[in-house]
Amino acid sequence: MNNEQSKRLADILNAMEDGIFIVRQDYTVEFMNTTMIRIFGEGTGRKCWEVVSKENVLCPWCRADSVFTDGETIHSDVYIPSVKRNYHLIELPIRNLDGTVAKLNIYHDITHRKSTEEKLKATEEDYRRLFEHVGVGVYISSKEGKFLNTNQALLDMLGYDDKDEFLAMDIKRQLYDHPQDREKFQSLIEKVGRVIDYEVDFKHRKGHAVPVMLNSQVRYDRYQKVLGYEGIVVDQTQHLRMQKELKAAHDFLNNVIHSSSNAIMGTDMTGNIIIWNRGAEETLGYLAGEVIGKMNVRELYAEGMAQKVMKMMRSEDYGGRGRLRAYPMNFKNRDGVEVEGSLSASIIYAEDGSEMASVGIFVDLGERLEMERKLSRTQEQLLQSEKLAAMGRLTSQVAHELNNPLYGIMNTLELMKTEISPHNKRRKLLDMALSETVRLTDMLRKMLSFSKPDEEKKCVVDINTIIDEILLLHEKQLREFDIKLHATFADGLGPVFASKNQLRQVFLNMISNAKDAMPEGGSLTVTTEAVNQSVLIKFADTGVGIREEHLDKIFETFFTTKSDTVKGVGLGLSVCYGFIKDHGGTIKVASQVGEGTEFSIILPIYHGLEEACPVE
Ligand code: ADP
Repeated sequence: MNNEQSKRLADILNAMEDGIFIVRQDYTVEFMNTTMIRIFGEGTGRKCWEVVSKENVLCPWCRADSVFTDGETIHSDVYIPSVKRNYHLIELPIRNLDGTVAKLNIYHDITHRKSTEEKLKATEEDYRRLFEHVGVGVYISSKEGKFLNTNQALLDMLGYDDKDEFLAMDIKRQLYDHPQDREKFQSLIEKVGRVIDYEVDFKHRKGHAVPVMLNSQVRYDRYQKVLGYEGIVVDQTQHLRMQKELKAAHDFLNNVIHSSSNAIMGTDMTGNIIIWNRGAEETLGYLAGEVIGKMNVRELYAEGMAQKVMKMMRSEDYGGRGRLRAYPMNFKNRDGVEVEGSLSASIIYAEDGSEMASVGIFVDLGERLEMERKLSRTQEQLLQSEKLAAMGRLTSQVAHELNNPLYGIMNTLELMKTEISPHNKRRKLLDMALSETVRLTDMLRKMLSFSKPDEEKKCVVDINTIIDEILLLHEKQLREFDIKLHATFADGLGPVFASKNQLRQVFLNMISNAKDAMPEGGSLTVTTEAVNQSVLIKFADTGVGIREEHLDKIFETFFTTKSDTVKGVGLGLSVCYGFIKDHGGTIKVASQVGEGTEFSIILPIYHGLEEACPVE
């Protein structure tokens, strides 16, 4: 090679990005291109180890040493700290024309490739770690039905210790609990390229089924031919067990709610009904299907009550915040009738403390309350009877004591009358005294009949006849007081077993009270009718009426509103009450102030064999 050629060659080598240098057998550097000089610094003509010894680096010359002995081309990667770069080094033995041996070293910069490779290696490592340690099973399988790879999680899930045994299994027969499921899976996944949340039963190595969920996709070759599948397998055993437990708990709660005989109702915070149990259906008459999501609870409350209930629940005063404890409440049932009962309710709060819903338990107390009321009425009646009995004993004693002297006085006065002429001034005083004693004897008679109701003899009577006779006697008097009389008697009333005298007294009392109640006139309607094996007798007047607070007092002894003591002593109705009770009947009153009063007397129809009363 002439000089010109050598220079050309040097130019070419200098233009190259790879570092190139030639070292002679005596380790002197024959040539370094510019890239090489950039790497090592100027070194042509020097012994190459001197170049590196300064840097104290891995020595390419030292390696070259061996090349001289075996004459092979050597590839190696080296790192040069002085420039902080990696190179791929090719050491080429060359023989000069004069027979000497030299070596051509080419340094190709691989720093960039190296770092990419390292990065890749790191990523690969990450994936490998993820594959092995991820908590779900990961697999790659062939279309034909063999696993190509899997991770430990899938082996554990299906009870395999030996990965090779697992990889060798026939997927269709040994993995699927029902082999036909493999075909279903394949046809599904190949249709769309993937399956998401696909549930199927795999088989444990010991034979039992393991419910799993698959998320997989198809692996294709570059001609879009299906190679196999890959994806993840999630064990569903725990999930399904929890789901089952949750369902059981839910069913149990549902059962408790639905089998309760009390009405259980739940609403959202706007009052829309979301729970309605059988008890609610029975108590209020609406079926669950008619109210859930269709009706607002406000429709069941009286006006404004729903808001009041919410207000009470939100306060601390009715069982603590968010609660209402056994509060008396009325609900309207399907027919619009009020159902009396007691409501216990709670607000259900979300985790953040906001109100989510409310649940109420309503106990229908209608029957119990009615019974309690009846009981209290009976108690009152009992008290009344006891009072009457005590009163009766006292009255009877007083009446007896007064009766004899009174008759004595009356006789004396009568006697004196014969001795004083009717024109004498004193005669008038005598008449007055006599009339007062008559009034006193009359009162004593009432007191006696009040105290001894059972002394009267009873016989079979016809109510219509008794009333008719009395009305006949008083018709004229009523007319004088401008009172119109209407009497309607039902035909064929049954007979009543009674004391004629006592009944007369009762009816007379009714008429005389009605008369007192209509000082300006009015009308008195008397009716009889047969009702349920009883005779119902009504005396209805259009008089002043009875004030509500007096209604339950009028049957008490000595209760009177008649200020004129001549008219009233308050014994009439208590005597009537005693008589009617003694006959196994009832007496009730209904009245409106300013409109009138109606007394209803019920007496049982007699079915016995006793004789009718003798004609008087
Ligand atoms: P008395 O007639 O002596 O007052 P009663 O026992 O017969 O006693 O009646 C008690 C009270 O009942 C009367 O004072 C009156 O207030 C009321 N009362 C009874 N009957 C009637 C009636 N038909 N209309 C209005 N008030 C009546």
